[in-house]
Amino acid sequence: MIYDGAAPHDADAARTGGVPLAPEGAGWPACADCGGPMQFFAHLPVEDVVLSVFLCRNDPGACESWDAASGANRVFLFPRTGLVPMAVPREGVTLLPVVSAVRTEAVPFPPAEDGGDGGDGDPYDLARSGWKQQPGERFGKQREVLGSLGGAPSYLEDERVPECPGCSGAMEFAAHLEEGFDHRYAMNLGGDLGYVFVCRPCGTGAFLTG
Ligand SMILES: [Zn+2]
Ligand SMILES: [Zn+2]
Repeated sequence: MIYDGAAPHDADAARTGGVPLAPEGAGWPACADCGGPMQFFAHLPVEDVVLSVFLCRNDPGACESWDAASGANRVFLFPRTGLVPMAVPREGVTLLPVVSAVRTEAVPFPPAEDGGDGGDGDPYDLARSGWKQQPGERFGKQREVLGSLGGAPSYLEDERVPECPGCSGAMEFAAHLEEGFDHRYAMNLGGDLGYVFVCRPCGTGAFLTG
């Protein structure tokens, strides 16, 4: 996922920031820890669902938004149609200051020119470094990568893969999320990488950082 400039706040396309789109009547998620409204992070259409990612940033560091089981973050799986902008709570840290459009690009892994077989190493790291080697630069390559869809979680211990609260199975990895293009656009993840997991049969999602 690559930064692609500004986006409308209610775009039904991959973005970070802006206003979440949800089924009519859906309530804004509250943090189980502090009780405040969560901050909306990302709108990610994937196949037949929209992943809608929130985490609590009312008092960064106080609520354990890095932990999938803390209740201080939420990932919703919404249907692709019938979504409307959610009503934004008046209090609390709810929206990112700037909306970032996200485009997806398949990145070839670096060729095995160094004698390696090209298949070793962390796939997300390889994709990121492959992207940086591509010609052309619109915004500065360093921060353009906003994450990835699919693949395998980068450097995440197996025991951190969340268990689905519905069926108790291991959840499926869905996306990496970087903090953002620059500080004005960024979600505060404490310098870490965000991981989105889903259980499609149960329609549940989870978020953690590491
Ligand atoms: Zn909280
Ligand atoms: Zn499940």
